[in-house]
Amino acid sequence: MNSGNNNSAAEQSSDLAVSSSLIPAFDPSSSLQVEKLYRAGEFIMSQGDIGDSAYFIQSGRVQISLTRSDGSKLLMGQRGAGSLIGEMAIVDDGPRSASVQAIEDCRLLEITKSDFTRALRNSSPIVGLVTRLILLRYRDVLQRSDIIRDFTGMATVLEQQERVHAEESRVLDLVRMANEFRVAAARQQLLLEYQPFIDMTTGAVIGFEALMRWQHPVRGKIGPDQFIPMAEDTGLIVDATRWAFKEACTALKRIQDRTGNRALFMSINFSATDFDEPDLFDYLISTLAETGVTAESVHLEITERLLLRKSEQVLRMLQQCRAQGMQVAIDDFGIAYSSLSYLHLYPVSILKIDYSFIKNMISDRTSMSLVKTILSLCSNMGFKSIAEGVETQDQVDLLLELECTVAQGYRFAKPMSEQALMKFLEQGHG
Ligand code: C2E
Ligand code: CA
Ligand code: CA
Repeated sequence: MNSGNNNSAAEQSSDLAVSSSLIPAFDPSSSLQVEKLYRAGEFIMSQGDIGDSAYFIQSGRVQISLTRSDGSKLLMGQRGAGSLIGEMAIVDDGPRSASVQAIEDCRLLEITKSDFTRALRNSSPIVGLVTRLILLRYRDVLQRSDIIRDFTGMATVLEQQERVHAEESRVLDLVRMANEFRVAAARQQLLLEYQPFIDMTTGAVIGFEALMRWQHPVRGKIGPDQFIPMAEDTGLIVDATRWAFKEACTALKRIQDRTGNRALFMSINFSATDFDEPDLFDYLISTLAETGVTAESVHLEITERLLLRKSEQVLRMLQQCRAQGMQVAIDDFGIAYSSLSYLHLYPVSILKIDYSFIKNMISDRTSMSLVKTILSLCSNMGFKSIAEGVETQDQVDLLLELECTVAQGYRFAKPMSEQALMKFLEQGHG
């Protein structure tokens, strides 16, 4: 189905969207739609077209039909809420094998071919292979369907089974969440909170980490643990990170101007997926110029997962960032992989010791020795260290004894809005 159809269907049916319980504000521009809307009688897809989307039916009913080679028409059955339609075209590049027409007003949740391809790329190659093989066989059966007389009886059973599968897999929730997240930034639902980094020898704030939140219109404020994995799987993180980078730089500029302290820095979280885009470096540089922030005031927080890719492109981009003066910090250091062999290959400047070690270091010897090991690694390799999740004075004392001087954690401050942060700084924490 082409996007022109999408638009016209959506515009004609915008009154339907208002009735959706989950989306109070409907934006008729198609790129910002969470759902596609079709009136009864409209064709959602036509046999032979090249398709670029599949749809979950949220409400309404559709009729599936195909035209045989002799021109005669075959009704394949109907589908209702919970069914998936048009999935074949997003798995391979084949034409639509059937036509689908709305027989009631329908609300559809779209899965684009590019989202699906990305999800498949992120999964095991076995999943991709099996999916394509099953499809190949299914298309083969359909091609022989000239000899099949009647699908309608079978379709009812199929429809029930499909609905059960969709409900059990909770994939509908995921697709809905992804579609909602896609429009979240444009609707100004994403926001950042800032958590200070403290120099424990003086108590002064030396910088901040930008942490993303989603102010969902229905669910309220959602923490990153609940949406970042989905955003990474779907590739939606790329735009979100860019938004966060710009937003955080803009905030840092205001904070530096107001406090007169140009040494304050901003640390921004990056996902491995962000580095798949070759123009990331250009984006960072142009955003720095646009916001008036120096490269030295920016820390990029990456994970070990990114370095383990051993990608030339990643290495080059990180080197370019470092050459400009940005710092590169490894987040959650120590939890993921024990291989240290790759560390020296990358232009890393900071290791952030994971919260779990800091939390347990007083009660657990292994955590304590890991913290010590990471700190001696830092001093041997010339990295700075930051202790994450410092909650108690005992931890502060111990870290200072171990000569780890920079920390982040509830002992000093929780993540907060820019406004609250300004107050915090004005109260003498700067
Ligand atoms: P992270 O990067 O390790 O961020 C630190 C997390 O620990 C934050 O959780 C912060 O609120 C929490 N934290 C800080 N101090 C303490 C403490 O003393 N005790 C405890 N219990 N927790 C503390 P948050 O904001 O929920 O973020 C969770 C994770 O989500 C982050 O972990 C990061 O991996 C990811 N994330 C957040 N924002 C972004 C973003 O903009 N982009 C990407 N890619 N990931 C993000
Ligand atoms: Ca982080
Ligand atoms: Ca961390």
